[in-house]
Amino acid sequence: MTSAPDNVGPAQDATGALLSRAADFAALRRATGPGQAVPTRPATGVAVVACMDARINIEALFGLAEGDAHIMRNAGGVVTEDIERSLAVSQHALGTTEIILLHHTKCGMEQLTDEGFSASLAEQTGVRPSWRLRSFTNVAEDVWACMQTLRSSPFLRASTSVRGFVYDVDTSELTEVTEESLAAHKQVTSSS
Ligand SMILES: [Zn+2]
Repeated sequence: MTSAPDNVGPAQDATGALLSRAADFAALRRATGPGQAVPTRPATGVAVVACMDARINIEALFGLAEGDAHIMRNAGGVVTEDIERSLAVSQHALGTTEIILLHHTKCGMEQLTDEGFSASLAEQTGVRPSWRLRSFTNVAEDVWACMQTLRSSPFLRASTSVRGFVYDVDTSELTEVTEESLAAHKQVTSSS
């Protein structure tokens, strides 16, 4: 999430390289035959909402194969209107019943502020965004806030399992965010 003044140069070459890999992928598929048809409905019934951070390999982390889960990613892994939209489709049209929400340590969103980012974008582009960045200062507290947003959403099934976690980018370990863990965390930070 660093600022790029003009999108020219290396990025276009990288896209070319990726397209070449995609052609190889399709060729391999053709060579190995159609295989077993993957159903449209995610096999695990799970939807994962996570930060787009390039250090997190969601499929590897949760051992997900093609067809297993819906994975929705954005800057921060925050619950926006569009995440609610996608989750509504995921649940009501494609049968998922569980949500895993994932933020992580050393997230770029902790370094930014909504107002500062908007001002900097306006300065660089001449246009002030109509959307809010949705930055946060405490990762666990934001996971909790996002969980509450999901639980109170009228578009999600009331019986949906919603669990939230912080992924440590250094150790790859997950820490679950619960009311208890949040209370313990607050006690530690207020007594230090
Ligand atoms: Zn992040």
